[in-house]
Amino acid sequence: MASSATVHQVVLIPGDGIGPEVTAAVRRVVAAAGAPVEWIERRAGLAALEAGEDLLSDHTIEAIRRHRVALKGPCTTPVGEGFTSINVQLRKRLNLYAAVRPVRSLEGVPTRFAGVDLVIVRENTEGLYSGVENQVTEGVVMSMKVATELACTRIARWAFRYAARRHRRKITVFHKANIMKMTDGLFLRCARRVHREEHPNIEYQEAIIDAGCMKLVQDPSQFDVLLLENLYGDVVSDLCAGLVGGLGVVPGANLGDELAVFEAVHGSAPDIAGKGLANPLALLMSGVMMLNHLAETRDDPRARDAAERIKGAYNRALADGRTTRDLGGDLGTEAFAGALIERLR
Ligand code: NAD
Repeated sequence: MASSATVHQVVLIPGDGIGPEVTAAVRRVVAAAGAPVEWIERRAGLAALEAGEDLLSDHTIEAIRRHRVALKGPCTTPVGEGFTSINVQLRKRLNLYAAVRPVRSLEGVPTRFAGVDLVIVRENTEGLYSGVENQVTEGVVMSMKVATELACTRIARWAFRYAARRHRRKITVFHKANIMKMTDGLFLRCARRVHREEHPNIEYQEAIIDAGCMKLVQDPSQFDVLLLENLYGDVVSDLCAGLVGGLGVVPGANLGDELAVFEAVHGSAPDIAGKGLANPLALLMSGVMMLNHLAETRDDPRARDAAERIKGAYNRALADGRTTRDLGGDLGTEAFAGALIERLR
């Protein structure tokens, strides 16, 4: 067990856009909750470029390798031109092959459905995110969708193990193997094999993604853990965020065998950046996941206590109607962090 003097060094990447605002708010709340964490700040993305560093420097990568855990704000990626996504690069370079995103209804956040409790497990390293695009001829371009047996099996195994450990009842794979018979077909075959050979006691289901999306918005309670390849996982994560109040309330983790980078599902929100309006809750919830990960992997109950105190504080703040504008309230980022700190017990 970690001694009472142990402080966990965690890499903090503020990121771009609303990133610095929401990370500052999270730092305040985590410190006020007495979490045994020391932040090692590193840059990535446009913020790094502006400071004269590479977009994703070895300095930042090495820090994550050394400390093994990071909390990351969103990084901007130019659309249709410019550099490749820092987020994708980071996940690939550190082999963070599993993205896990719990999507749960929150008391005090009224939405169309109550009691939503889904977990999205997204393959994080291949699919259409291979980044291999080329021009075949004038007016014809091509993007390569990559699936490997290794990565498809690895993510299926991760999802089934997660479901078994967390006592979840069912895994559903969303796919388009009727059209992409080879790539999505391989994804399905690997999931079926892991189910059959390693976890036959967990219910397993498949849905073609278009029909699956319709079913999700009709009645999310028919699903439990969703297992998806990279692009489907990206799209369905935002769809599911919409079921529980939006991108301001959905946390996430990118996990490999050794390393873990926690980040919200949302991006750098350039439309509200610098205005003090962003909701820091999704990143704070990612911080709670991070504290629970530290508690589990380093046997430190103080990290779990801090996570529980933060959870209690945000549940009380939401129940009291003390929320940011995206959730119908009138608080700015800092005022919301203050409302949470007042409610820490
Ligand atoms: P976005 O998630 O940044 O924003 C979508 C909408 O949600 C916007 O209206 C925004 O104001 C709102 N929103 C997002 N987070 C919010 C918060 N915390 N509080 C209140 N409102 C919030 O998506 P986008 O506009 O498509 O992307 C902007 C940039 O972010 C792009 O460069 C994209 O590549 C990048 N991005 C990064 C990540 C990441 O770092 N992991 C993830 C997604 C997008």
